[in-house]
Amino acid sequence: MNIIQTAKVLSIRILTESTYILRIERNKFKFIPGQCVNIGLVGSAVNREYSTYSGTKDTYLEFLIRKINGGAVSVGLSQLTPGEEVTLDGAYGTFTIKKPAKIGKYIFVASGTGIAPFHSYVKSYPKIDYRIIHGIRFDSEQYDKQDYGKGRYVSCISRGKGGDFSGRVTDYLKKIPIPLDTLYYLCGNRAMINDVYDILRIKGVNGSNIITEVFF
Ligand SMILES: Cc1cc2nc3c(=O)[nH]c(=O)nc-3n(C[C@H](O)[C@H](O)[C@H](O)COP(=O)(O)OP(=O)(O)OC[C@H]3O[C@@H](n4cnc5c(N)ncnc54)[C@H](O)[C@@H]3O)c2cc1C
Repeated sequence: MNIIQTAKVLSIRILTESTYILRIERNKFKFIPGQCVNIGLVGSAVNREYSTYSGTKDTYLEFLIRKINGGAVSVGLSQLTPGEEVTLDGAYGTFTIKKPAKIGKYIFVASGTGIAPFHSYVKSYPKIDYRIIHGIRFDSEQYDKQDYGKGRYVSCISRGKGGDFSGRVTDYLKKIPIPLDTLYYLCGNRAMINDVYDILRIKGVNGSNIITEVFF
């Protein structure tokens, strides 16, 4: 693990009204794709966990962050300007791909910014055989979908128009065949994860082939 350190902000890329990519200096920061980092505002003594979004070969660190109304950290980070610093602690967690060299098939199910660790996997392990099923409200939330291989990204849009499927990820999963020789990684809000877990189990997926990370 890295020691607690500070890093300069390189850029903030606005994706939607409430979501942005925070890019900071990496220096020698080490992480395994899927791990999270505690990020804080310098001098505030408050930090929050954010999953790595960038890949291990990138020279910078990136995080995909949703601004939460009244949120202590997600709003403050969005207001930083290049050259200002954040504190970093980590990386932590086991929401990782265990043997990337021998990877088989993966289905990644995300809600909202829960797609962050999957983006990091895809950038870090370009040969993996995966599909991403992304639950979002509006088509503007198909963050960086061009970064995923052709036919590998499916958006499920619950409110707006556009995207690949109209409805929630749970509606989509109920309709499609569910392969059993596949590992399922679920990331995002707890309600989505619980519902998807139940659907996969009912369709015959072994519980040990379902790996989860709850954001809130
Ligand atoms: C392992 C882990 C990884 C995480 N990775 C990410 C990430 O990559 N990107 C990201 O945006 N967030 C991520 N989070 C959530 C993040 O840590 C903070 O909880 C979030 O940014 C709110 O912090 P805040 O200080 O702004 O708001 P706070 O003042 O702490 O909280 C405000 C409220 O917002 C709720 N909340 C938290 N996150 C969300 C959300 N995404 N949508 C709606 N409500 C929410 C909380 O439950 C809380 O009730 C992760 C959390 C965990 C546990």
